[in-house]
Amino acid sequence: MTNPTEWKDRINPAVLGIQPSGIRRFFDLVAEMKGVISLGVGEPDFVTPWHIREACVFSLEKGYTMYTSNHGLLELREAIARNLDVSYGVSYNPRNEILITVGVSEGLDLAFRTILCPGDEVLIPEPSYVSYAPVTALAGAKPVFLKTSVENGFRISAEMVEKAITPRTKALILCNPNNPTGATIDRERLMEIAEVVRAHDLVFISDEIYGRLTYVGEHTCVPSLPGMRERTILLNGFSKSYAMTGWRIGYAAGNPDFISAMTKIHQYTMLCAPITAQVAAVEALRNGENGLNKMVAQYNRRRHLVKQAFQEMGLPCSEPRGAFYAFPDIRSTGLSSEDFAQLLLKEEKVAVVPGNAFGEQGEGFVRCSYSASVNDLTEAFKRMNSFVRRRVNKGKILSFSIGKNESNKEGICQTI
Ligand code: PLP
Repeated sequence: MTNPTEWKDRINPAVLGIQPSGIRRFFDLVAEMKGVISLGVGEPDFVTPWHIREACVFSLEKGYTMYTSNHGLLELREAIARNLDVSYGVSYNPRNEILITVGVSEGLDLAFRTILCPGDEVLIPEPSYVSYAPVTALAGAKPVFLKTSVENGFRISAEMVEKAITPRTKALILCNPNNPTGATIDRERLMEIAEVVRAHDLVFISDEIYGRLTYVGEHTCVPSLPGMRERTILLNGFSKSYAMTGWRIGYAAGNPDFISAMTKIHQYTMLCAPITAQVAAVEALRNGENGLNKMVAQYNRRRHLVKQAFQEMGLPCSEPRGAFYAFPDIRSTGLSSEDFAQLLLKEEKVAVVPGNAFGEQGEGFVRCSYSASVNDLTEAFKRMNSFVRRRVNKGKILSFSIGKNESNKEGICQTI
């Protein structure tokens, strides 16, 4: 009999080297508890609009249960091309410049595996969406983090990109609006970043999954910037904008060389995205604009509630400008982000994601998703408020009782 510990030797070291997602680990814990209000998961609390579900039901009645072309239904690719043209004035040939993927998740994997060689470096703004670094590492490349912070509004700059570039740098990935911070980057700053990307001949991977969920200013689609269309792999999907997380449907758009190479990997691994989801996505693009606008209006309303709640709690929070996340600074409680999330869950049954799940730069912060009903948000913030008050008051008592900082009795102790 082989000793089970020996099986580890058979596993690819690149796989052994990556960590399971911090979000998932935390939510396995939440799943075992009752009465928890979750501000943790990054998915809409809305059910997919009925007309989209109905289109799928009809397609099943008609017997649409087969594989589609590897590229995806031409009808869907045409609808995507139209949508990108109308929304951002950027045009793609649906026949060879668009690939339908199993969510943006698959698009990320395909894009990275297509362009990266062992030893290449990818610039990743941090805090970052959880899958960018592992997917880079699985492709044999090295993630290089662009450290953003509350001081720079969690936004990268052209200067930061320029400084991080080495002869091995192959690509920059950007998620705008950002998960987990809710920050957005405006057109002017994107133009500056794009100039550096062009000057160093890098590939730009643009994760636009939250593009339509922009509440302040207008979203700029990276390939619509001068000279960026050919060097950008645009990734987008239906999970967030159309409340379709479970359908697993997205797309990549880019030059024919990138797309045909990505299609080869997709062909041998996924074959095609599910036909039911593709049919539903066609309906979403054709008739989903009203529903999308209603959901955006709801998120925007909740966003104001979130801003006010953190103000009342005394937790600094940069303005959430896009996606559906707020990223408050919890350092005044004296807790690490992991302890904050664990204790908040244990004491008040509210789930948030510790900021360190998004990299080192997330330490001292937690991610709160406002894709929850107003009632749930109101109750969750009431509970969080009592929790924060208890921690901060405890800090005051401690700093007073140890008598180290008499002048700071009313201040917030950082040491609990
Ligand atoms: N990119 C970002 C920034 C995300 O936040 C997510 C999901 O949370 C994804 C990609 C994956 O999306 P999909 O459901 O399309 O695979």
